[in-house]
Amino acid sequence: MTPPRIGFIGLGIMGSAMAKNLVKAGYDVTVWNRDRRKTEEFQALGREAAATPKDLARRCDVVITMVTGDEAMEAVLGGPDGLFAARFGGSTLINMSTVSSAYCEKLAALCFREAVTFLDCPVAGSKPLAGNGTLIILAGAEEKALEKRRPLLLSMGRTVIHAGPPTAGTRLKLCVNLLLAQMTTGLCESAALAKAFGLDPELIFRTAEASPALDCGYFRMKKENILKREFPPAFALKDLLKDVRYILSGAGSRGLELPVTAAVEMLAAKTYNSGERNSDLTSILKSLDPREER
Ligand code: NAP
Repeated sequence: MTPPRIGFIGLGIMGSAMAKNLVKAGYDVTVWNRDRRKTEEFQALGREAAATPKDLARRCDVVITMVTGDEAMEAVLGGPDGLFAARFGGSTLINMSTVSSAYCEKLAALCFREAVTFLDCPVAGSKPLAGNGTLIILAGAEEKALEKRRPLLLSMGRTVIHAGPPTAGTRLKLCVNLLLAQMTTGLCESAALAKAFGLDPELIFRTAEASPALDCGYFRMKKENILKREFPPAFALKDLLKDVRYILSGAGSRGLELPVTAAVEMLAAKTYNSGERNSDLTSILKSLDPREER
């Protein structure tokens, strides 16, 4: 079988690493990114950069999107230069961006109407896992469509978890990011409390690493950020805030209240408004510094 021609849209922290893994796996990859400068390294590898998403869709059998969220997806899909202007019925769209559950439903319906096979495949795992191709892919797809694209997905990830039909991948992703949001704020609050108690926050990590109940890869991954108070983005605060809002709207529309997640939203918004938009999500720690005595 001839390998599919792949179009990759969104060369940010995650997308550029994922697209490079597809190139490494030998796929014929054409890229598009809003900021054209990010396509240069792919052109240096002999890959083409399409002029518009529409142009990209015309050249490819499978289009993968990895952009910020609902608004970015709308910008890429709609309008005269958007993906759907190409009328790419018969092709496949794999959305790997984290979007809201409501947007994902809209996208699934649009693909169905346009006869585009839709795979809803957000990912768990951050920059290092994207880099070494070991992401966890949360798939919402029909069984047959998923099996056909499994080898492609496994060029970017270590495993595919089939959550159910299209839209189930996004719903699972939001459940998982609820954990991530609360683990991040838990870690930041614990470090802030240690400091207020006059303890070295390193002791928290030492204790967690010695404890079968608390030892956790995520805490280890964020240890340096917390201890050095340096926040280069692996997962940007702006995206955490976006996801927390998707979680709350998805829950709210089903009559479910999530009070702890609502508190995380407040703290993340406060940090975002203090200028940490593009910092790592662990920059929430900065919002927990004690107020100066007056
Ligand atoms: P990022 O570095 O901020 O990249 C965002 C990408 O979206 C860029 O290519 C950006 O284009 C594009 N974009 C944003 N708004 C757009 C618009 N209006 N029109 C067209 N393109 C637009 O983000 P990332 O960390 O790679 O994350 C990508 C997705 O993966 C997000 O949904 C995120 O929630 C999810 N995710 C991230 C992580 C992580 O740890 N980073 C982990 C799992 C899932 P420009 O380059 O032109 O700005």
